[in-house]
Amino acid sequence: MAGQHRFLLTPGPLALSDEVKAQMQYDLGSRDASFKTITAEVRNLIVDLVGGNGAYSAIPMQGGGSYGIEAALASFVAPSDRPLVCINGIYGERMLKMLQLRGVHAVSITVPSDQPLSISQISEYLEKNSKITHLCFVHCETTTGVINPLGPIVELAKQHGVKTIIDAMSSFGAVEINSKQVEFDILVTSSNKCIEGPPGVSFVIASLEMLNSNVEHMNSFVLDVRDQWNTFEKSGEWRSTPPTHVIQACAKALERLTIEGVSRRAERYCSVRDAIIRATASYAFPLLDARIRSPVCLALTAPDVIRTQKDLDALYAHLVDYNLYIYTKLHSPSRSFRIGCMGRIDPMWIRLLAIAFKDFFDGNRGIRRHLPASKNRFVEKAL
Ligand SMILES: *Cc1c(COP(=O)(O)O)cnc(C)c1O
Repeated sequence: MAGQHRFLLTPGPLALSDEVKAQMQYDLGSRDASFKTITAEVRNLIVDLVGGNGAYSAIPMQGGGSYGIEAALASFVAPSDRPLVCINGIYGERMLKMLQLRGVHAVSITVPSDQPLSISQISEYLEKNSKITHLCFVHCETTTGVINPLGPIVELAKQHGVKTIIDAMSSFGAVEINSKQVEFDILVTSSNKCIEGPPGVSFVIASLEMLNSNVEHMNSFVLDVRDQWNTFEKSGEWRSTPPTHVIQACAKALERLTIEGVSRRAERYCSVRDAIIRATASYAFPLLDARIRSPVCLALTAPDVIRTQKDLDALYAHLVDYNLYIYTKLHSPSRSFRIGCMGRIDPMWIRLLAIAFKDFFDGNRGIRRHLPASKNRFVEKAL
């Protein structure tokens, strides 16, 4: 099976365009001028996408999204700080855990994962707790795809003189973020979600004000965003070996994103999402209300059939017969499972998904019934 493309309907990593993948065949020296130029281009394109010129810098960090988040927390939250983490899913929980592991006395408020964060609840908390220094939250909680109100939360934090650290992993590139309108302090994304690049690098977008602020608490080399930034600014180089092929692919992916534009990318994902809703409508239901659904992924429930991880394992294995890949884990509190809408999704995959769901839920368990010869041949035929 290696050597064959899977039909990825996952919220990252995702199906890449050939153009982006083609960039990964060039070997470059990590400290060579041509690679420095590509690194600078990637950094500039990211800053441009948030309209942050002159006020923000983008710092690529080796490692996936979680590495970028941990680097941001390690570099911009001191042990004596008192961050408030607002949680409505697993990635918010992860931010809290990272702070706790670092010995920071973080506090948190949690709302159910099928609800967006509540402005009035956060406001009330900040009113009562004047010692809060940072507000940490996830823009689009990929746990369910719920979108949190970025602008109002950042505005509220600013009114209280509280710094914002935002996990925008799955929103950047598919949900408009403009730093002129939403003056966040730190925002983190990664290469393999709506940028539509390969996995392997995260991007910390930090205000120059935060980057220029003093720290005495830094206790990690690899997570030090400021040191990485200083090195980029001084020499154009990474401190340690960068993922050269991934960065070349990211440059192409960001170019394509800039040309397509965030709003058109959002429309493309929304039409995929809505096609998935229609394709599965007889058997599964969106968890979230339409107004809080993001374009990037869809959480579905099938209350009578998919109740446990084991049930989902059976559906997953069934879909694999069609070369279709959804996210593997059931979110047990909401009993929902996720289908990604990002990346180069071929409309044929969604037609195949409709057939696969019908076979599974109607009890036919049936691709082999239709075409006993070979599932791969079926998939090739469908293509
Ligand atoms: C994917 C994701 C992450 C984690 O990224 P990894 O690359 O898996 O470490 C964090 N937060 C959100 C909101 C995500 O969607």
